[in-house]
Amino acid sequence: MDSTFVFYCILIILVAEFLLATALNFLNAQKFKDPVPKDLEDVYNIKEYEKSQAYKLTNYRFGILTSTFSLALILGFIVFGGFNWVDQIAQNSTDHPIGQALLFFGIILLGSDIINIPFTYYQTFVIEEKFGFNKTTHKTFILDKIKQWALTLIVGGGILALIIWFFQTAGTNFWWYTWIAIAFFTLIVNLFYSKLIVPLFNKQEPLEAGSLKEKIEHYAANVGFDLKHIFVINGSKRSTKANAYFSGFGKEKRVTLYDTLINDLEEEEIVAVLAHEVGHYKRKHIIFNLASSILLTGLMLFLLSLFINNPEISLAIGVDRPSFHAALIGFGILYSPVSELTGLLMNYFSRKFEYQADDYAKNTYAATPLVTSLKKLSKNSLSNLTPHPAYVFMHYSHPPLIDRIRNLKA
Ligand SMILES: [Zn+2]
Repeated sequence: MDSTFVFYCILIILVAEFLLATALNFLNAQKFKDPVPKDLEDVYNIKEYEKSQAYKLTNYRFGILTSTFSLALILGFIVFGGFNWVDQIAQNSTDHPIGQALLFFGIILLGSDIINIPFTYYQTFVIEEKFGFNKTTHKTFILDKIKQWALTLIVGGGILALIIWFFQTAGTNFWWYTWIAIAFFTLIVNLFYSKLIVPLFNKQEPLEAGSLKEKIEHYAANVGFDLKHIFVINGSKRSTKANAYFSGFGKEKRVTLYDTLINDLEEEEIVAVLAHEVGHYKRKHIIFNLASSILLTGLMLFLLSLFINNPEISLAIGVDRPSFHAALIGFGILYSPVSELTGLLMNYFSRKFEYQADDYAKNTYAATPLVTSLKKLSKNSLSNLTPHPAYVFMHYSHPPLIDRIRNLKA
């Protein structure tokens, strides 16, 4: 294996992934104008339907622009020696390998994020704004960026430093040291996500006493579900789109409802959405997802340990001097077809789990309020009612609305 061969592998992977994604987007766009299925005719009125069509088309065109730009950027960076240039800066700044790696990744991640700001800005303040979703102020936008960078620096920087330290101390055995550390960290984040991370970005308060809380508690008691923590989060700070999610497990488990969800749905519909979330918990989907993400991390780290000592991986991205951090970039690209495949598999399971959670809500509560809530949520986010099956297969973590409704009505 020589570095020219690896270099061409990297180019082929980047271009092939771009072509595949573009082809799928194109296929999906061919179905934008398909007739709306009979069961979904009451989702939109004419005006809203036209708005949803315009929203899909706008996002499709904007997606072509951003993905083409990203491909050009990474190809240009590799071909014109961008990684080598950044590596020189890192080498000239410090002799310490951990310091060099932190600088190298710091410059690349911060640089690419800054280059992408015009696109995220346009997405939020032009597209989402035009279709009435955006509630983000410029101040929130800037503060979010700063907080995300600080989190990446602390968490990402900490993990990177740890991996390199393991590599220096344990050689290729570093992979399972790292695996144990990341698995432990993943568990902690999962348990305390709502307590540690969410407050950095949102306000959350316990659901106030009243008829909604009574209905939820009544339902939880009925299915023998110990639900002490129900929180409401101010999602309306950023967007009108609504959501609900489950986090943690054991004593730390909690349900979080967006304030937008409470505004948009009737109480019975909210309980139905919550019953669906309880279904995920009862059917052990949360544990499955956690366990599989830890297993997939192990697979990735094991493969990394096989490649990390090959100088060709570093040289292939255009750097003069092989290093752990340069090899990490090369490996990241070489691994991406594998992560596409595992992502496909995870989406497949996720869609199965959605049906199971829907069935759970249907059997323990009722199907009708879940059907109407799903329709309202789809309407309020201008969802695509006619996605292409191939696009669904690749990208959807939830089944299309029509399939969920048919399953609920069956
Ligand atoms: Zn779900």
